[in-house]
Amino acid sequence: MNGATMGDDTPLRQAKAFAIHTTLVEHFGAPTFTPGDDPVDELIATILSANTNDANSGRAFAQLQEAFGGDWEAVRTAPLDAIKAAIRPAGMYNQKAPAIVATLERLKADWGGYDLRELAQMPVAEARAYLTSLPGVGFKTASIVLLFCFNQAAFPVDTHIQRISQRTGVSPRRANPDKIMRIWESLLPPTVFYPLHINLIRHGRQICQAQTPRCDLCPLQALCDYARRAGEWRNG
Ligand code: SF4
Repeated sequence: MNGATMGDDTPLRQAKAFAIHTTLVEHFGAPTFTPGDDPVDELIATILSANTNDANSGRAFAQLQEAFGGDWEAVRTAPLDAIKAAIRPAGMYNQKAPAIVATLERLKADWGGYDLRELAQMPVAEARAYLTSLPGVGFKTASIVLLFCFNQAAFPVDTHIQRISQRTGVSPRRANPDKIMRIWESLLPPTVFYPLHINLIRHGRQICQAQTPRCDLCPLQALCDYARRAGEWRNG
């Protein structure tokens, strides 16, 4: 943990962040890490997931695998139109198809193929720097690969985690996902990143929903700035 950049309220924020983690474990249980997809699969799937839902990006990924037999070399050398046709359900296929090819070109040039398991041996900062140097790969995608493929010390922030971080006050109310990622990473030890990430998403889907947060049912109520402000407003 490195709280040096967080200012004087760092100990309070750390206590709140840790209390959120332990409360969610009590409520939802403690998810244990199981190695996820191959890192190259995860990278391509994440490129496909931009600005669409899981169902559409999942369908596009499955169609891409089926069209090219799961062979990334075949995708890299395929006509762009064939890739666009396969990934059509993900939307933005005019941007996503060239991004996929450009990523595969880099992997081929850098590693001689499509095996990124060596990233697991690198320090996190180095692995993240490499991944974000790939075309179209931002901090979020890099963190997803590092956390879900290798259980490394990275904390990806999706829309649920962004919303809960802002509402609870772990992050400032207008913080962007990259800033929120760095806040969580600075406040908590890497051992909790995986279970906390999973539990925050569960919490966002089931309780702290975007339009109508179910604060009356929420185990985080006592830790939440949004709930406190709502109570103050109700009490005049
Ligand atoms: S108290 Fe309400 S706003 Fe705060 S985390 Fe819970 S559901 Fe979300």
